[in-house]
Amino acid sequence: MKSDRDRRTVVIIATGGTIAGTGRKGRETGYTSGTLDVSELIDAVPGIGEIADIRAIQICNVNSDDITSKIWIELTDTVNRLSRDEAVAGFVITHGTDTMEETAYFLNMTVKTDKPVVLTGSMRPSTSISADGPMNLYQSVCVAAAKESRGKGVLVVFSNRIFSARSVKKMSTYNVMAISAGEAGCIGVIRDDEAIFHDVPTKSHTVNTEFNVRNGDILPRVQILYFAVDSDTGILEYAASRFDGLVIAGAGAGEFSREYKDIISTLRSPVVVSSRVNDGIITQDAVLCENTIAANDLSPQKAAILLRLAIMDRLTSKDELIRIFGSY
Ligand code: ASP
Repeated sequence: MKSDRDRRTVVIIATGGTIAGTGRKGRETGYTSGTLDVSELIDAVPGIGEIADIRAIQICNVNSDDITSKIWIELTDTVNRLSRDEAVAGFVITHGTDTMEETAYFLNMTVKTDKPVVLTGSMRPSTSISADGPMNLYQSVCVAAAKESRGKGVLVVFSNRIFSARSVKKMSTYNVMAISAGEAGCIGVIRDDEAIFHDVPTKSHTVNTEFNVRNGDILPRVQILYFAVDSDTGILEYAASRFDGLVIAGAGAGEFSREYKDIISTLRSPVVVSSRVNDGIITQDAVLCENTIAANDLSPQKAAILLRLAIMDRLTSKDELIRIFGSY
């Protein structure tokens, strides 16, 4: 337990998700996300007030598939504003697991504080047997309050493990350890109230990025196109005419058919190539079309976020985009 001298505040910002979901008693499917409010989430965690003073904010209460870039910007704004308060040690954001990795990466690029910002959620609704939400919330508050967590960028805490926002991803539709990071692995673990780190994120984040957003900003629109056998090329031209940029979720190391290649080579808007494969890396010297940018090891959904931020700042030349996709 912390002494009074050490006591600091952790701000819990709730957005909804399964962690705030309720359904039929005992069952883990067929529930509704985002029905409990933040005070009910906190009340379900014994001992949370022994770790830190808790301040609670409800930003929205939605299934995370209904998260929008407007909500992302509101989260960034809230964290930036409250991080100036000396009493605040860190932040926990409760969130649905479906798009948690996207929100985490967006915040990793846009918040301007080295205080810990930790996302968490749950795979089981609050009404199921062995709901995982209370433990995940408890561990997240411990990580957000820990001095060791500072300067490591936005983190995700889930099932005793600590992940970097850059590499975290949802890897199972049902498993209670669904949040993972593939080959990159976790950067730490948590036992009781102790955060134990074994790694640090190496790419630039938070205070060391060039990206700033504030309420009222509107992010450019980027569409992800998923390639599979016999994918229709018409969709490429249609999407290029409607969106500010494209991300291709290619097969293997960012590959696609000859027909796809012929059309993509003619596109003038920014095109970033990622992969539909879970683990791996696409290097710039391996891209099939000269005019495209390799996503490095970013997933299509994270590459889309970085491309939106780059387009917003008008950093759309090939050289700028290669620099950006190599830096973040
Ligand atoms: N559909 C839910 C959500 O993302 C899943 C979850 O939270 O685990 O909000």
